[in-house]
Amino acid sequence: MFNPANKRLAVHRKSERKVMWWTVLVIGGIHLAALLALDPAYFSRSGLLLGVILYFVAGMLGITMCFHRLLTHRSFQTYKWMEYFLTYCGVLALQSGPMQWVAQHRIHHKEADDEPDPHSPLVTFIWAHMGWLFLTTPDCHTYEEYRRFAKDLDRDPVQRFFDHNFFLIWVSFAAVVYLAGELYGGLGASWLVWGVLVRQVALWHATWFVNSATHLWGYRNYKTDEESTNNWWVALLAFGEGWHNNHHADQRSAAHGQRWFEVDITYYLIRLFGAAGLAWSINEPSKRVVARRKDIMVDEEALRAADERHDVPVAGVLRTQTDPTIPVVVPQMPSAAEAYEAALKAAGEAKEAAARALHYAAEALKHKQQGAIEAADQAAKELLERAKDLGMAAVEQAKYAAAQAAEFSTQASAFATDAKERAAESARQFAEKSRNLAQEAFETASRAADEVGEAFQGIGRPIITSSI
Ligand SMILES: [Zn+2]
Ligand SMILES: [Zn+2]
Repeated sequence: MFNPANKRLAVHRKSERKVMWWTVLVIGGIHLAALLALDPAYFSRSGLLLGVILYFVAGMLGITMCFHRLLTHRSFQTYKWMEYFLTYCGVLALQSGPMQWVAQHRIHHKEADDEPDPHSPLVTFIWAHMGWLFLTTPDCHTYEEYRRFAKDLDRDPVQRFFDHNFFLIWVSFAAVVYLAGELYGGLGASWLVWGVLVRQVALWHATWFVNSATHLWGYRNYKTDEESTNNWWVALLAFGEGWHNNHHADQRSAAHGQRWFEVDITYYLIRLFGAAGLAWSINEPSKRVVARRKDIMVDEEALRAADERHDVPVAGVLRTQTDPTIPVVVPQMPSAAEAYEAALKAAGEAKEAAARALHYAAEALKHKQQGAIEAADQAAKELLERAKDLGMAAVEQAKYAAAQAAEFSTQASAFATDAKERAAESARQFAEKSRNLAQEAFETASRAADEVGEAFQGIGRPIITSSI
């Protein structure tokens, strides 16, 4: 388990942040109003039942299944109308609009437990749990800022509508609950207190524990380059989100629970949707990542051997911070030859970006040797931070282009499988070549990522403008 005394973070760019009084008022006001539940006059069995049902609807359908696993990580696919329905459920959880939620969460993965992480408990527990909500987040506050991290959602007018109007939607839903309660039997106030207010406060804290508790307490299946943990009680409160170390290790996987006792009801629900034909392309944990799980890879020697095989040479640490969390979408090529050409181009881009990353890493090492960090020379420090920013962005580009190359090679393979007789042989050759290209590009990108990681160790890093 992580000992927080080992590492402390400051609040990133503290002096530039402003208190968001509206948020203070709304969150504080709802907490106070929920205290009405202490008065038995407001209790009704139907109100309690409604609260429980809406806890599942807003929390599981809305936040964990939709905002997190579908919109942020695209762990599975579904119909557009279903995506919109689930997004509506997520808006009922009153955790900002979908675009800002997704942007903040993508930054969290990119910067986890480094200073720009919006909510690391390595500042303090209360900061990660709720303190961060009351101040503006640098580079992720205005629409113009956060849309950069949610470009895929920004293209969709319906998602933009949800994002701009989330508070109004929440208020109008609360009004509908009140009216329905009144019609049902004069229980409007009871339904409002239990179905909206108490449920809202409970769901907030369950979600917030994912940010605070599961970066502090619990066990780790994976040695990742941040402090995420697996925590059973958070997993129960937040529908499987407590298996957070598994999630950081493999962000695209729809399943967060991996071992038999890691109950993950959001994943079971996604599977149920899958069985009903409402979800498809459900991502399973990657075999390559699972091979590094501590309970499987108990032997240090075996882990080292696995690292060498997979070309991840740095002391068995799984690098998670620069992995692209946005899915790679490439156009369908009309033939194996064209898929090969596209793979060639993407692999070339990956290698160029990796070379750029290595160049910045070398620059950083030069300045490091001059003792710039110890001397705290402001100009040199700024230069290093800038180099780190560019280096990490180049790594990200390299990884993304490598992933594109892999997609094109998959297309080429599909052509080879489909092709008949004479065409088959050349299609197979193209498929083979593009597979090699994609593999090479991936290896170059991974090597660059490791070297950049090494070179920039101990250097505070500004938020990277997402290049994807
Ligand atoms: Zn996390
Ligand atoms: Zn995530």
